Amino acid sequence: MKIIKGDKVKIITGKNKGVESTVMKANPRKNQIIVENVNIATKHVKKDRLNQGGIIKVEKPINVSNAMLMCPKCKKPSRVGYTIVDGKKYRICKKCKELLVLK
Ligand SMILES: [Zn+2]
Repeated sequence: MKIIKGDKVKIITGKNKGVESTVMKANPRKNQIIVENVNIATKHVKKDRLNQGGIIKVEKPINVSNAMLMCPKCKKPSRVGYTIVDGKKYRICKKCKELLVLK
């Protein structure tokens, strides 16, 4: 998957369109990512011995195609390609050709 945990992304569609945030979790099998403060759902938690209860906020996964990677070099939302350098696979920013580590 072209977007991985720790990446900065820009949301390009949906109710959080335009938001820039960090990927907290990536699920390549489902093509989904969880982005900090994006696609928030509120969940009601009952009060019990262990927690206070009330309303908590949780990020719900979004499809990876709803986000674009913010290139750390050119600071723009960019399309990502792949390249091999010395036998190692990297992502590459299609705008500035910066190599981006693929964990
Ligand atoms: Zn770039």
